[in-house]
Amino acid sequence: MVQIKTVGVIGAGQMGAGIAHVCALGGYDVLLHDVRADRIEAARTAVSKNMARQVAKGIVTQADMDAALARIAPAAELQLVGQVDLAIEAATEDEEVKKTILKALSPHLGKDTILASNTSSISITRLAAATDRPDRFIGLHFMNPVPLMNLVEIIRGIATGPETYETAVAFAQSLGKTTSNAEDFPAFIVNRILVPMINEAIYTLYEGVGTVEAIDTAMRLGANHPMGPLELGDFIGLDTVLSIMNVLHEGLADSKYRPCPLLVKYVEAGWLGRKTGRGFYDYRGETPVPTR
Ligand code: NAD
Repeated sequence: MVQIKTVGVIGAGQMGAGIAHVCALGGYDVLLHDVRADRIEAARTAVSKNMARQVAKGIVTQADMDAALARIAPAAELQLVGQVDLAIEAATEDEEVKKTILKALSPHLGKDTILASNTSSISITRLAAATDRPDRFIGLHFMNPVPLMNLVEIIRGIATGPETYETAVAFAQSLGKTTSNAEDFPAFIVNRILVPMINEAIYTLYEGVGTVEAIDTAMRLGANHPMGPLELGDFIGLDTVLSIMNVLHEGLADSKYRPCPLLVKYVEAGWLGRKTGRGFYDYRGETPVPTR
């Protein structure tokens, strides 16, 4: 098995920051890249804030936090990520964006480097085909928020080799995560089930069956979900929710996966949820206020 010491993370959004966080705490050196330099800095600030919270709760020691933060280095250029043992792509959920990154990165990688994608829904086999190493390519699907969620879904593409799989499982376990294997079908397991539920909640709102508050309260108290589906959609990011619905709709060709027009409208408005300050709730004040 390849010995993993350094990890590259491409895309420093909510997931990239979370992945950098757990890798650094796990003792790996991390190189963090984003097409936008301000995102890399924002991610480092977010990691520091979230780790401080873990220190306050006694989950992490101050010394471990300081050592972990020192392990995260910015990589201004994508090719700098080439020197790592494992590169995890965690950029925007858009197949063309991901393929462009993977194609550009491939020539800079060492021959043994493993490439992974944190995609929520896109075919691992298709992404692997955009690289020079389909046998060393795998889906490592972390959950949000990465430091708190225990699962990593592992998705093998048609060409993923057994050694890549074993290395990926051992890596996820070294971060204290439990793995679950999913076959390479649109949206895998978690999002095949979860995201159509969120889309259905948006239809429920769209058709006037209930208000934002009624729908979320109903599912929190009626189904014992820790978060209501609209709150959860805002948390994931409505652009990501829409991309996943589109992948399901196109990939499975079943009208039951039709994205709700109201979801499309929110995304077109740039109301993407928590990360932009507004979605089904407005997060700009002290407490979230429903936007419908
Ligand atoms: P995000 O919008 O918070 O972050 C995406 C980041 O990718 C942004 O900082 C953006 O600047 C960067 N990016 C875009 N194009 C790039 C490029 N060409 N090169 C480098 N960086 C680029 O999104 P996110 O929620 O962090 O999602 C990232 C990935 O993780 C997606 O594939 C998503 O499906 C997956 N994911 C998301 C969740 C979730 O709950 N949000 C959960 C699991 C997996």
